[in-house]
Amino acid sequence: MENGVKKIKIAVNGGIGFGAKLNARQLLMISKYMSEDEELELTTFQQLYIEIPEDKKEEIMEEFRNVGLACYPVGNFVKSLRTCNFCKGEEEEGMPVAKELNRRIAGKSVPFTLKVAYTGCPIGCGEPMVSDIGIMKTGDHYNLYVGGKAKGKDAEVGTLLMKKLTPEELYDTVEKIITVYSEMGKKRETFYKFLKRVGINFLILLL
Ligand code: SF4
Repeated sequence: MENGVKKIKIAVNGGIGFGAKLNARQLLMISKYMSEDEELELTTFQQLYIEIPEDKKEEIMEEFRNVGLACYPVGNFVKSLRTCNFCKGEEEEGMPVAKELNRRIAGKSVPFTLKVAYTGCPIGCGEPMVSDIGIMKTGDHYNLYVGGKAKGKDAEVGTLLMKKLTPEELYDTVEKIITVYSEMGKKRETFYKFLKRVGINFLILLL
């Protein structure tokens, strides 16, 4: 609360493109809503956290979107898709598929923050193997991993759940996984712990 104005935190980034970049217009727009002593938080998930007045939230987000910034909620939601830099080209590395998947899932409410990563080839720059849900494009298809864990002494590589998915199969499967987690996960239970509790075989039965 500043000068009686309640503020809320939102996450912004430049959307899915060739690298996690912001242009000058976008930086100017973000700074328009910051005082000199305020700070931006840069997360490990290609998002910036900024606090804005709650009563002007919708109009500010509209302004942000007009300069190409993508806005997402902060908290127990599906994060915006973490991607690689698509260094081999937009179509070849499936950028339209990444954008569509992000459009379908980012911001959905879940028991605990859910991280989904996409990578355009098996080199894996988007780190899909250590994300809750990871997608790796191989040839014309997509392999889907679940249950990776990047942090902690018990960090773990995810398990290959399905391979050679078409884009439609990929969207459908990821959306179903998120629905199952939303409905069956306990409050604040991470996806990693949820998977350990129910088991991957049980998850497959529900897909
Ligand atoms: S995962 Fe592949 S396509 Fe994506 S940035 Fe890395 S090398 Fe390039």
